[in-house]
Amino acid sequence: MEQTSLYLVPTPIGNLADITLRALEVLKSVDLILAEDTRTSQKLLKHYDIKKPLKSFHSFNEHKALQSMIAQLQSGTVMALISDAGTPGISDPGFLLARECVKNDIVLECLPGPTAFVPALIKSGLPCDRFVFEGFLPHKKGRQTRLKLLAEETRTIVFYESPHRIVKSLKQLAEYFGPDRLASVSRELTKIHEETVNDTLEALGTYFETKVTKGEFVIIVDGKK
Ligand code: SAM
Repeated sequence: MEQTSLYLVPTPIGNLADITLRALEVLKSVDLILAEDTRTSQKLLKHYDIKKPLKSFHSFNEHKALQSMIAQLQSGTVMALISDAGTPGISDPGFLLARECVKNDIVLECLPGPTAFVPALIKSGLPCDRFVFEGFLPHKKGRQTRLKLLAEETRTIVFYESPHRIVKSLKQLAEYFGPDRLASVSRELTKIHEETVNDTLEALGTYFETKVTKGEFVIIVDGKK
């Protein structure tokens, strides 16, 4: 069996205990850990007493760093890629490196583990047999076009959102999808202030408008009926 060269390792989305035994084993065994933010990852690695060389690999340098990473992998260095939280490649750096590994026949392994949209989807109570993951909506260019297109989507839709845009997005979703469309907002999953609110888009917009909107958010919207 060929030896894996690159491991994509999911890390906790809040609660530090949400890491698999295998993820810890892999992080302890590799030659080098590529991290989106080395300072953020240091906290996790320190917590689990993992001492490994760390290199930064984030969206601002991933294009540039790609070829040297591939060369290092080809020369036999075994690496793990981690992001700040959750699964690398899911609204996080990882896709470019994974694609390049596939192109270059470098053995790639992605461990199963934490990602924010799965618990949010299940907690929404909305159909999860078929769904679409949209990640972050475009901030400016293409936002309206995307919203118009998604208004017709019949499957459950998953969005990621930041605290600065949560109210704006909920209001816009109500505008494009209709105020009575069922939806769910999960905030701070696995953390102390975890909260999931299931209601119509209009009611959710009003609810979060009157609250201090801190934290990280996943919005789940019912498909068009
Ligand atoms: N790679 C991550 C994953 O697998 O879910 C996603 C990273 S993306 C840069 C960050 C976004 O994920 C946040 O803005 C939020 O939408 C979502 N997210 C991450 N952690 C979360 C949490 N604990 N609760 C709710 N949403 C979260």
